[in-house]
Amino acid sequence: MQRGVLVTGGAGYIGSHTTVELIKAGFEVVIVDNFSNSDISSLDGIERITGVRPTFVEADCCDKEALRRVFEAHDFQSVIHFAAYKAVGESVAEPMKYYRNNLLSFMNIVELMQEYKRPNIVFSSSATVYGDAETLPVTEQTPRKPATSPYGNTKQMAEDILRDVTAACEGIVGIALRYFNPIGAHPTANIGELPRGVPNNLVPYITQTAAGVRECLSIFGDDYDTPDGSCQRDFIDIVDLARAHVVAIERMLAGKNRARYEIFNVGTGHPVSVFELVNGFEAANNLKLNVRIAARREGDVPAVWADTTHANNELGWRAERALDDTLRAAWAWERKVRGIE
Ligand code: UDP
Repeated sequence: MQRGVLVTGGAGYIGSHTTVELIKAGFEVVIVDNFSNSDISSLDGIERITGVRPTFVEADCCDKEALRRVFEAHDFQSVIHFAAYKAVGESVAEPMKYYRNNLLSFMNIVELMQEYKRPNIVFSSSATVYGDAETLPVTEQTPRKPATSPYGNTKQMAEDILRDVTAACEGIVGIALRYFNPIGAHPTANIGELPRGVPNNLVPYITQTAAGVRECLSIFGDDYDTPDGSCQRDFIDIVDLARAHVVAIERMLAGKNRARYEIFNVGTGHPVSVFELVNGFEAANNLKLNVRIAARREGDVPAVWADTTHANNELGWRAERALDDTLRAAWAWERKVRGIE
């Protein structure tokens, strides 16, 4: 079916928001997820927002036979592959867990796409491939830096696999989306991020601190060579990011791609510092956070943000949501999760 999409990891943070946007755009979604870092409640959230409950298969994408049954049973033309582990620190401690899971699941998907003649794939890549870039903002031509974690390496390796497969196999077209820093939640507060344990990422840590779950937010470094001394990132609203997947799929279905493998940065194009983000969260939500300055976190680059010209021009996509709306949505979601009025 032309407008069928297989979404691996569709119960997760980015996957659930993308599923909503796909359904709104008239796609029929089949989700495969093993709930390794997600919750079945996100399917209820998707249904509340769209009125549609996507077809769901509980399976691990490393289990090729389980995945094969999905390809046998469902007639989609496109795949969006989100299913992967994403904790940088954990990947350093347990590299094989990351190489096995992230690469095997991706290779299974690509092999089955070849076997079952399903032509289109969007791969979730990351700005981490740019490392500590020499020039900012980064374009898609900015050279990748050697990965500094097994997690980052799985993203680079999967990009390379996709480049090689699309070069060798006429039947496969791929788009790698390099995400910057996705934040926020659906404005209806029906879906959002559900980090397990202590959050690694800034915004979940902020919202949990605001909710009283964490005592104090640590700012990792105020002595960087940046305008205010804290790191700068390109924080992109999760719904804007989700929409980029829909336009990527539409592009491939319409045959508008200019090559069988394309790469797009998905960011706002604007740097925001950690201090600016924290202050913005406090102002948007009219509250005060308990904050302390801590040592730099190993592996953090001082600054990275996207040049989004390629996505703007070629996909006709740009980030639209205002940062304070995004930060209000993040807090509304945390309150809902915690039952705070
Ligand atoms: N950060 C922070 N305190 C936290 C979590 C993150 O100061 O509790 C900083 C981190 O050092 C980085 C920025 O926030 O400069 C974004 O970090 P995050 O882990 O969200 O994303 P990353 O850019 O590392 O993928």
